[in-house]
Amino acid sequence: MKVLIIEDERGMALEMEDFLIKAGYLCDLAFTAKQARQLMEEGPYDFILLDLGLPDKDGLLVLEDAKKICPEASYIILTARGKLEDRIKGLDLGADDYLPKPFSLLELQSRMQAISRRKSGLRDNLVALGDFTVNLNTRMILYGDADIGLSKKEFDLLSYMLLNKNRPLTRMQLSEHIWGSFSDDDYDSNYIDVHIKNIRKKLTEHGPVEWLQTIRGVGYKIKL
Ligand code: CA
Repeated sequence: MKVLIIEDERGMALEMEDFLIKAGYLCDLAFTAKQARQLMEEGPYDFILLDLGLPDKDGLLVLEDAKKICPEASYIILTARGKLEDRIKGLDLGADDYLPKPFSLLELQSRMQAISRRKSGLRDNLVALGDFTVNLNTRMILYGDADIGLSKKEFDLLSYMLLNKNRPLTRMQLSEHIWGSFSDDDYDSNYIDVHIKNIRKKLTEHGPVEWLQTIRGVGYKIKL
């Protein structure tokens, strides 16, 4: 999952980045609206965390532009401005949630998880995949009580597909959301195939994985 943090308070931006990287997200930072725009144009992002009080542009205008450049991203507005009207305007402009500063990073993470679940139609952080159970919170996939022990990238791949379940994802999409942007030269689609093969191998030692499907000529999907 790729996150763009748009926040001019550097200390706070770095703190969020550090926390989200540990939680398994991939992060880019923008300290100004201008930097944010450049990064968004290179996109795509799964989440955009937007401070409304930026030095070079009104945050609500940034949000309006951002929604056009990255319509698929989920937006959380961060602001010290506790004004009800900003919150309402932000939500009206299509923000998915709102966090008044100061907020706890754990709360930010659970709001992000809640948005992901809502958009993918999952009810909670525990998801049954055939005989396996995925815990999106502890980042584990279990067979009974046994942890399958996927690597970080393997879990990123599996959880990204799960959050986009029933939707065929191309190798390029998976690469972009899990490894970040690739230039065409160093993009190697085998990379994803190798990881999927390893995931299948680890899981099939325990049980069938017919829900993990290869879509010929396209990529992969999780069918639920
Ligand atoms: Ca600010």
